[in-house]
Amino acid sequence: MPVTCLRKACVRPSEVAKIKIKINSQINSQINSQINSQINSHINSRGLAVLIFVIPTQRHFAYCRCSLPQTIGKPMENVIVITGGSRGIGAATALLAARQGYRICINYHADDQAAEAILSQVRALGAEAIAVRADVSVEDEIIQLFLRVDDELGPITALVNNAGTIGQQSRVEDMSEFRLLNVMKTNVVGPMLCAKHALLRMARRHGGQGGAIVNVSSVAARLGSPNEYVDYAASKGALDTFTIGLAKEVAGEGVRVNGVRPGYIHTGFHALSGDPDRVSKLEPGLPMGRGGHPEEVAEAILWLLSEKASYATGSFIDLGGGR
Ligand code: NAP
Repeated sequence: MPVTCLRKACVRPSEVAKIKIKINSQINSQINSQINSQINSHINSRGLAVLIFVIPTQRHFAYCRCSLPQTIGKPMENVIVITGGSRGIGAATALLAARQGYRICINYHADDQAAEAILSQVRALGAEAIAVRADVSVEDEIIQLFLRVDDELGPITALVNNAGTIGQQSRVEDMSEFRLLNVMKTNVVGPMLCAKHALLRMARRHGGQGGAIVNVSSVAARLGSPNEYVDYAASKGALDTFTIGLAKEVAGEGVRVNGVRPGYIHTGFHALSGDPDRVSKLEPGLPMGRGGHPEEVAEAILWLLSEKASYATGSFIDLGGGR
């Protein structure tokens, strides 16, 4: 029995013939086998052609794993996954990404209505987009999310680890184990899992074409947030360390990893800590005399993802208005 390697690529229907020829010529020139008839295609629910081909890989496993995916199934456009993309900073990032021509996966956790609303706005801007409910701290749900992206949008090129949570303002003595685990799972384990599944597709060592990751941290990572939420601050500190380490780990594999650290931003996030009007209340004491807007964070995220930031990795942009 020959070992086989199943490959899948999403392309526009108009490109099916071109890609089939490319696959055939690649395989026939380097692997002496007749697999033309094994290349099948179907149109998926988003109108993309999905090519499925089986490659005998008994003697050519390395070729199939490394070289082939670099020559076929090339992303025609940038494909971005934004965790927590339905509200606040994530939603602003989705809208800006739509204006910049990305195909977009808007991930969210619970609020279907908010996700549908931002999905409609993104599509109204002409972007191809899907909204996918998944808890970033649960790997099975992340796996399903990435499979939907593969199938409906094509190969991922950008990941924004934006989803995050925070507990009510309190001292450490009053923090429950449940709260601590929830904060760490959502803010630290979640981004790590999402990065893992993005890297399995983007990193050159896995046959990917490279890409970029931006982790949404917080100025709390360097301020510590005493008497309020040191657990949240510590989770963002861990995310920063992850950003630095991962950036070095994958720098040679075509993937850049950077972070943004927002300060007080006008979003619904502060309701979670028990003070929905927190930013407005604190504005007079802030260096710029105002809080930030989600769009100001989104600009930095999209810049870090773009080719304009091609030599930036393991770096951070603070968006704290001087804090
Ligand atoms: P937000 O307006 O409250 O939006 C949070 C988003 O994350 C929503 O889309 C939410 O989906 C999603 N989400 C929450 N838990 C999730 C989970 N377990 N799995 C998947 N999605 C989940 O928050 P934001 O202010 O835009 O904050 C975004 C990021 O910026 C967070 O990481 C936060 O720590 C960071 N940040 C915010 C500020 C600020 O002042 N706002 C400052 C510094 C850093 P559902 O609505 O469906 O639950």
